[in-house]
Amino acid sequence: MRIAEIHIHKIDLPVKNGPYVMSGSEVHALDSTVVQIVTDSGLIGYGEVCPLGSNYQPQHALGARAALCELAPSLIQQEPLKIQVLNHLMDSVLEGHNYAKAAIDIALWDLLGKHHDVRVCDLLGGALTETVPSYYAIGVTTPENAAEIAVEKVAQGYRRLQIKIGGRPVEYDIETLTKVYEAIGTDAQIVADGNRGMLSKDVVLFSRACKDIPMAIEQACNSITELVSIRPQLAHPIYIDENSEDLSVVIEAAGKRLCDGFGLKLSRLGGISKLRTARDICAAQNIPHTCDDSWGGDIIAAACVHMGATVTAKLNEGVWIAEPYIDGHYDEDKPIKVEGGSIKVPTGPGLGVTPNPDKLGPAVHSF
Ligand SMILES: [Mg+2]
Repeated sequence: MRIAEIHIHKIDLPVKNGPYVMSGSEVHALDSTVVQIVTDSGLIGYGEVCPLGSNYQPQHALGARAALCELAPSLIQQEPLKIQVLNHLMDSVLEGHNYAKAAIDIALWDLLGKHHDVRVCDLLGGALTETVPSYYAIGVTTPENAAEIAVEKVAQGYRRLQIKIGGRPVEYDIETLTKVYEAIGTDAQIVADGNRGMLSKDVVLFSRACKDIPMAIEQACNSITELVSIRPQLAHPIYIDENSEDLSVVIEAAGKRLCDGFGLKLSRLGGISKLRTARDICAAQNIPHTCDDSWGGDIIAAACVHMGATVTAKLNEGVWIAEPYIDGHYDEDKPIKVEGGSIKVPTGPGLGVTPNPDKLGPAVHSF
């Protein structure tokens, strides 16, 4: 079996009840890229990458499509089931741009599963659960509103809430977490996520003022250096998210115990192949982590869910998908969605998602 065609689609995903507010940005709509790999046997694999705007990380949507156009010609006529070989090939053609390579890698895993008639989670060692926990991210908002949403989400079944902080005087963040904790107590695990937007002095003030709130603080400062420098002064465990740019960072941070947990993202690391390795590194070091992506539709959501289903329960911090924040699905028959705070693992072969061609629209680039 050989790769016969590659098609790249651009899909607009408006944010429902937006904007989605983080410390450094407001997000009103997302620009997702879907990759379709067509083989000479007729099998089709799907991948997706959807950077969270252009200032969340170095990745951006136009960069993803440009990098995919750079990669695609080399992949035509290659054997799609040799995923590792094709990952090496991609690295030889283009330096970096893990996020674009992730879309190809995901599509190759989808093809491998379809070829063998098994699910991606089973290719990854087998699902430990058929229902993975999700978590809800509450954007930067007033203390009262955050507490109200927290109560609503706990009632819906969420057992982990991420509260966005930063980008404003730290007193508001202290009040926000205080109000949220007063409202939900220990009914859900709480994580305060600064999305790199806070000064180290404010993180110290925040943690000390909230010392009685059981929570983790995620990626509050811009760099690992800042996080490590203030860690002895904090009352809370810290998680690294945006700084886990590639496997080498995860290996170093896990090996040196620079953090207590990770927010791991498929596209940032380079796809399912790389996240599988990160999962195993975290298991070896007993470090909890999520299996997320920044945004996107059913394809990237399915990939995250398959991955999350293979993480041992004590280390599984959940799978975040964008579905609660966007309207519609690529596959209305087998949509990936959060219900009661968790997500069912798709049942079909591969990713278990078959996008409706009308939802993808015409390809913007074809090879
Ligand atoms: Mg985060």
